[in-house]
This record gives sequence, C-alpha cells and structure tokens, in this order.
Amino acid sequence: MIFKVFKKQELARLHELLAVNIIVGPVTKGNDRNGKPLYDFDVVYDFNELALDYTQTVHSPKRFVLPYQETLSTFAVNRNDWEKHVDFNVYRPLVFFGMHACDINALNKLDLVLAQSTYPNPYYMGKRKNLFIIGIDCKPEPQCFCRSMGTDSAIHGFDLFLTDLGGKYFAEILTATAFDLLSQINCKDPSAKDLGLYKQATNGKNKHYTATVETSDLTKILDLEFESPAWDAWGEKCLSCGTCANVCPTCYCYGVEEHVDLDLQHARKTKSLHSCNLIDFAKVAGGHNFRPTSASRLKYRYYHKHRGFVEAFEESLCVGCGRCGTACLADIAPPEVIASVRGKE
Ligand code: SF4
Ligand code: SF4
Repeated sequence: MIFKVFKKQELARLHELLAVNIIVGPVTKGNDRNGKPLYDFDVVYDFNELALDYTQTVHSPKRFVLPYQETLSTFAVNRNDWEKHVDFNVYRPLVFFGMHACDINALNKLDLVLAQSTYPNPYYMGKRKNLFIIGIDCKPEPQCFCRSMGTDSAIHGFDLFLTDLGGKYFAEILTATAFDLLSQINCKDPSAKDLGLYKQATNGKNKHYTATVETSDLTKILDLEFESPAWDAWGEKCLSCGTCANVCPTCYCYGVEEHVDLDLQHARKTKSLHSCNLIDFAKVAGGHNFRPTSASRLKYRYYHKHRGFVEAFEESLCVGCGRCGTACLADIAPPEVIASVRGKE
C-alpha cells in the first residue's frame, strides 16, 4: 500500500479526470420524517452533487453490479430457426466515488459467490471488473455494528481510500490505476504530522460505535438454537415484506422468469432479485412451500448470513451496515435478534 496526502480542492480535479466514465456516488434524496437528510447512491454528473460527508445511504450500491431486474437473454424466431441474444449489460466503466468500508467489504463478499466460486456469474463479473472504487472514511451511526463483523475497515477491494484530515485527504493507494491518477493531481508523501492526524481520525471514529453483535461462537449457538422460541417471537412481528433484503448490500438471491410474446416469435429471460422473507421464496412446483411461516423465513435469512455462509467461506455474509434494521417497519434489527437468540435481552 502506498500513502499520499492531497488538499481537499484536488478531489474535484480527480472527479474531472474520471468523468469520462459513469460516476456513481452518494447524493442527498430529501429528508426523513424527523427532518434528517436521506442519502442514496446515484449517477453523478457534477462534483458538487456528491455528498461525501453522508452518514448511511438507504440502499447499498449493489444495484449497479446486481440490478434488481435484468434481462439475461432474448430469443427470436427467424424463418424456421430461433436465435438467442445474450447481453451482459456492461456499458461504460463505472466509478464508485465515496464508498464506506462496509460497502466495499460487501462487494468483496459478493465476489466470493458470484466471481470466485465454481460457477461465476458473467453478468456480475462483467460489471465488477469494470469498477474503479474510491472509498471514504465514515462516522459510525447508532445502528452500525460493522466493527463486530470485522468490516469497519477495508484492506482490499478498492483502488483508493480517503480519510478526511481536515483541510486535506489521506489517501491509501492500492492499484496502479489509482497511482497513475494521483500523479495527475497535486499530492505528496504524508508528513509525521499527517500520520498523527490520521491516527487521531481513526481513534475519533472508534468512539462512535454503540451497536454491537456478539459473534463469538455464533455459528454453534445458531446450531443449538434452531428451535428457539425467539424465532417465533420475531416471526410474529415480521411483515414478510422483503425490504431488509432489498436494502442489504450482500443479499443476492434471485429468481429467473421466461416471458413469451403472444405471437410466439419472441421471448425474454429475466432475472429479478428475490428475498427469502417473501412468502413464495421456498414454494416449489406442485405448490408445496418449504417455509410457509414468516418465522421460518426470517430464521433462514439469519442462518444464511451467520451460519451457512460462515461454513462455506469462513466469514459472515453480514457487514453490519444496519440498513435492514433502519428500513424494517417492524423494528427487526440483527443486534436485537441475535442477542435474543443468545438468551440476552
Ligand atoms: S424483517 Fe422487517 S424488513 Fe425484513 S421482511 Fe420482516 S418486516 Fe420486512
Ligand atoms: S443483514 Fe442488515 S446489517 Fe447485515 S449487511 Fe445486510 S442490511 Fe447490513
């Protein structure tokens, strides 16, 4: 890793140099019912639109690499034969400008399944390989428990990571592309004072963590507590709306549908992100539903995140961003759910 520092005004120049690509970053999207600003990731055309001091976006940036709905292929009958057309839907390279460490780690987790597994997903990989990622440090919100999940800091999966030192940024450079880019703006090696400021910023961030999840032996506890009444209690509250999976940066389950036009000459195969909390998620041909109750579905979401994924990849599928708890109308959040299953109130 190479470290540099540059004055804040140089960031606009960096944006300008990258503007030939599609730039996605945090922007303000109105206010919530308490008057607090709402943020989300969107395509940004002007540097001044970027809200780099954002707290947490409502949705994660996953929709740019894993769209909620995507056409996988189209079919057309041509004379007496049919033709298949596949489009991986990769257009221009994408720049994520200002991702927090939790979202960078979420992409690293998606990679394990969609890019590095036995059957890589070409639709995901096409977009993922065309990404340039600029991370930025954050101030933890009350719902953030990323520290418990070990995702409060990103050590790979980005090109450049910025920490705010007041009038300047401390830059961690991980790739040659980022190094070349920084050579086109005014930056220099960090001084002893800069290093002191960087350590001060890191220590300051640590003081803001309030939410925690006890992860020690969690997989074993989940094995032991499969029949815990806590699941029924949370299931009673759950509305089976699927919002938690919608906002989650690591939920990737999907369904595939085929649509045939009425003229029987054209067809389309589409993929839509699904949620294991939705009532039909485990329904199979013949009408049997393997998870007919909201409690069984909610439980499986937690078992996939904190049990099955850990067994497969030795890490949890949750980055502790807290989005699911914030978005849930029934006030169901991982710290409380896991504490109750562990027998803590
Ligand atoms: S946990 Fe909350 S957000 Fe998720 S499905 Fe249930 S009610 Fe909806
Ligand atoms: S399960 Fe909730 S806290 Fe964990 S990554 Fe998904 S949205 Fe964030």
